[in-house]
Amino acid sequence: MKLDQFPEAIRPRLIPKPDGEMIYRCLGCRKEHGIETLLYTCPDCGSVLLLHDRRFERLKAIDGGTWRKILDYRRMLKDPAVKGIYRYHEFIGPVIPLSSVVYLGEGHTPVVEANAHLQAKAGIRFFYKNDGQNPSASFKDRGMASALSYINFLIQEGHVDEVLSICASTGDTSAAAALYAAYLKPKIKSAVLLPHKKVTPQQLSQPLGSGADVFEIPGVFDDCMKVVEALSERYNVALLNSKNAWRILGQESYSYEIAQDFDYAMADKVVVVPIGNAGNITAVMSGFLKFFEAGIIDALPKIVGVQSVHANPVYRYYRQPEDGQRKFVPMTVKPSVAQAAMIGNPVSMPRVIHLVERYNRVAGDLRVFFAEVTEQDIMDWQLTANRNGHIACTHGGESLAGLMKAMQNGDVDSKETAIVDSTAHALKFAGFQDMYFQDSFPDGYAVRPNPDLVNRPRYVRPESIEKFPEAGRPLEGEAFDRFVDAVSGQIAESLDLKKKV
Ligand SMILES: *Cc1c(COP(=O)(O)O)cnc(C)c1O
Ligand SMILES: [Zn+2]
Repeated sequence: MKLDQFPEAIRPRLIPKPDGEMIYRCLGCRKEHGIETLLYTCPDCGSVLLLHDRRFERLKAIDGGTWRKILDYRRMLKDPAVKGIYRYHEFIGPVIPLSSVVYLGEGHTPVVEANAHLQAKAGIRFFYKNDGQNPSASFKDRGMASALSYINFLIQEGHVDEVLSICASTGDTSAAAALYAAYLKPKIKSAVLLPHKKVTPQQLSQPLGSGADVFEIPGVFDDCMKVVEALSERYNVALLNSKNAWRILGQESYSYEIAQDFDYAMADKVVVVPIGNAGNITAVMSGFLKFFEAGIIDALPKIVGVQSVHANPVYRYYRQPEDGQRKFVPMTVKPSVAQAAMIGNPVSMPRVIHLVERYNRVAGDLRVFFAEVTEQDIMDWQLTANRNGHIACTHGGESLAGLMKAMQNGDVDSKETAIVDSTAHALKFAGFQDMYFQDSFPDGYAVRPNPDLVNRPRYVRPESIEKFPEAGRPLEGEAFDRFVDAVSGQIAESLDLKKKV
C-alpha cells in the first residue's frame, strides 16, 4: 500500500527514522560506553554488555493502541528495510538508518498450530514457531541482521573501513555470520571457528558455500570461544558471537513477532526456548519487557528455558530456589543431539541472571522457569512432532520435551497456550534422525529408538524378475511391463492395498 493511503494518524510514524540514543551498559560496573566503537565486553571491568536506549521513555508517549496499529500497518509496506526485524526499528536499533539495514529475508517465521492429535498427546494447546525458516535455516539470522546492519552503519558513517568478522560456533552462528558477511562483500570478510566434528555436515557446508575462511579446532565450542575471544582482544576483528550485544537486539524480534501474531494478547501464553549460550533466552525476555513497558502488550508471558541433562549449567543454577544461595558453576558437557546448545559456560549467563530477576519483578510473580530433559525425550518428541506435520530440529524437540517437563513440574497449566521454538530446520540435524532410525547412537548419548517412531526406506527389487532398469539403460516392451507389474504388486502387498472393483 502507498504511504498516502494509510490513516493520517499513523503516517508520520510509519516509516521509521533514526532516533534515540543508544549506549552499551555494563552488567558488572553499570558504566555506559558509546556505540561508535564495537565493544564486546566492558573496557573497565570486562563484564558483558547490553545495549540500552537512553531515550526509551519517549516511546511511552505513544499509547499502546497506536503502537499496535503502527506495527500492523507496517506489514503492508514494500520497503525491504522494514520487511524483516526492523519492522520493530524503534525497539531494535533506533539509531540505524534504514539505508544501512541488511535484509536477507529473516524474521516473520510461521507460527503453526499443532494438530488435534499432537495437542491431545501433549495435553496442551500449542504452536511451533518455525525459526528454521530463516535464510540460513536458524534463528541466528535475526541477530546477524542486526549486527551486520550496525557494522554496515559504522562503515557508511566512516567509523571503520574494512572489517573481518569472526565467530566461534556450534554451527548455526557461523552459517548466519558467513551468509550476511558474504552479502556485504567486499566491505566485510568473514572467518569462522568450529569445533572439529561437532557440527553437522549441513552446517559445515554453509559457511564454506558462503566463502568464509573456515577453521576447525579440536575440543568443544567452549574451547573455540576462548580462541575467538583471544583473537578479538589481540587483533582488529569484529566478534559476531552473542557476546556482541547487537546480536541480542536482533533476536528480540522473536518476541515482538509472537506478540504481533497473537494480536498482542500475552496473558496465559507460555514461550518455550532451548538454552545454549543463553543469548536467545536473554533476547526473548528483553523483548517482552520492552513491549510491556511501552504498553504494547498488557501481560508478560511465561518463559520456559530448556536444557539437556548433558549440558545444563543454567538449569543447575536455578535448581537452587533461594536467590542469594545460587552459584554459577560452568560444567563439562556431554554429547547432545541438541548440539547447538552443547555449551557448559554460557557467555550470556550474567544477562540471564539480570533479566530473570527483572522479568519476575516486573511481572509481580515467578514467570521464568527452567526445565531439564533427557536426550531420549528430545529425540522422541522431535520425531513425534515431525510425524504430525512439523519440521522441528532437535532443539525444537528439546523445546517440546521441555514444555512437557514444565507441565509435570506444575510450572505450566494445561489451560495455557504454548509457543514452542524450533530454532533451526530439521534438515540441519538429519544425521541424528538417521542414528535413531538405524539404532546407531554412540553410547554417550544414551538414546534407544522407540520402534513406533522408527522409519526406514524399503528397497523394492522383486526376486521374480531378472531385468531391472538402470540410468542410461531403460527397459522396454514386455520386460518393462513385467518390471512395473512385479514392483507395483510388491508395494501393494506391503501396504495391504485393496483391489479396485
Ligand atoms: C544457537 C542455537 C541454540 C541456542 O541458542 P543460545 O542463544 O546459544 O542459547 C539453540 N538452537 C539452535 C538451532 C541454535 O543454533
Ligand atoms: Zn564494567
